[in-house]
Amino acid sequence: MSRARGKARRPNFTIKVGFADVAVKHVKMKDFGEFDSLDMVIRINENLDNWVYMQTFKHEILHAAAFVFGMSDMGLNEERWVDFSSAALTMVERDNLGIFERARSGGDLSADATACVSN
Ligand SMILES: [Zn+2]
Repeated sequence: MSRARGKARRPNFTIKVGFADVAVKHVKMKDFGEFDSLDMVIRINENLDNWVYMQTFKHEILHAAAFVFGMSDMGLNEERWVDFSSAALTMVERDNLGIFERARSGGDLSADATACVSN
């Protein structure tokens, strides 16, 4: 959503990805996002809806991690696996709201209607 539609602008921040501190900046741009390995900056389009933002954020983090861990440009078709992974994780997060937070805190996941419960 754009600010014109009443959405507050997301503040910039810094995240740690491996050995690197990566600045996350929300900017006007034509693409969804980008990772700049020279400046260690993730730029994300400031006008994305929340779930598209979440997918883009994960996508660019995976590009940063690929760079930090030496996996960039190794014939691994980085764009495809980054896009698949970020989309899959965002899909699960959206379809099971809060499940990762509950799992991290040791919460009861059996209450989640769509959670797979074994044993
Ligand atoms: Zn990409």
